[in-house]
Amino acid sequence: MTQSSLPKPSIAIVGYGSQGRAHALNLRDSGFDVTVGLRPGGPTEAKARADGFTVKAPAEAVKDADLVAVLTPDMVQRQVYADALAPNMKQGACLLFAHGLNVHFGMIAPREDLDVILVAPKGPGALVRREYEIGRGVPCIWAVHQDRSGKAKQLALAYADGLGGARANLIETTFKEETETDLFGEQAVLCGGASSLVQAGFEVLVEAGYQPEIAYYEVLHELKLIVDLFYEGGITRMLEFVSETAQYGDYVSGPRVIDASVKERMRDVLKDIQDGTFTRNWVAEHEAGLPNYNRYKQADLDHPIEVVGKQLRAKMVWLDNSPKEQKEAA
Ligand code: NAD
Ligand code: MG
Repeated sequence: MTQSSLPKPSIAIVGYGSQGRAHALNLRDSGFDVTVGLRPGGPTEAKARADGFTVKAPAEAVKDADLVAVLTPDMVQRQVYADALAPNMKQGACLLFAHGLNVHFGMIAPREDLDVILVAPKGPGALVRREYEIGRGVPCIWAVHQDRSGKAKQLALAYADGLGGARANLIETTFKEETETDLFGEQAVLCGGASSLVQAGFEVLVEAGYQPEIAYYEVLHELKLIVDLFYEGGITRMLEFVSETAQYGDYVSGPRVIDASVKERMRDVLKDIQDGTFTRNWVAEHEAGLPNYNRYKQADLDHPIEVVGKQLRAKMVWLDNSPKEQKEAA
């Protein structure tokens, strides 16, 4: 489909964090009329105004919009939808998510007259913006949950195109597939799996009497080199660049560490995601004021690898250690 045959809805972006800012800026640069919806006095309001957007309270921002993108944290979307969106969105407008969690697990049951779509960039907001600015894009996956206008697909493609995603790759999915694979990826491999693997490797070396500094370089620092090779050319490229000895060790020891029992537990994690157990627990945790979340987080922050890592990184002058906000804006 050519760009010119796609619709050009007026857009309200609710939330101006990692994804919200990138979406708002890219869509505006692609010629869309974009308004930002935020709580007055909230933490990102000044930023959106500094970027030149008209900022209104969510209930006001969505009134005239043909399309409303819900880009607040997942755990507040239900409330934002009930309080600000459902009573104020135009008849027949389009409701867009960047993650299917609330709709797939029934925390939000969108109004019958709305189109409901998903456009999820496969990358953090800062990358979505940076790639767009240099004329490229981040791949997006998209889905239609509810098509009342008959144009839901075109709206999803128009939004993904406006983000720059069409310059990279667009893949059709479902809310179910996006939600379950996204949760599984971050839990089993990306955030949960990778950080636990690194901590365990560090602990084994240090408990065996090796210097923490050397353990840090081996199991955390050098992981970047490997992940960069994965990213550029898959496992094939990693095997091309590491020594014969490293390859042999990979073949004989990798499957000893990540064995069938690990895969079995990954299936348990997936089952908890699929049957809603994970989401039910997460909603309850959020409603209780995050007691366990805060405890788990503190344990990660206090782990000995963080102490030694901080000292070693202070000597790595090439690192970008700027605060999150600054790094995302850069
Ligand atoms: P974020 O935490 O970076 O930003 C959230 C924004 O919402 C902030 O501007 C915050 O001020 C605002 N906000 C918070 N509570 C609000 C409320 N009650 N009313 C109005 N605004 C409120 O969030 P994010 O990481 O950009 O995530 C947004 C959505 O994008 C989520 O659905 C997430 O799953 C999805 N997503 C995120 C990524 C990512 O890399 N971060 C990738 C793909 C999809
Ligand atoms: Mg993800």
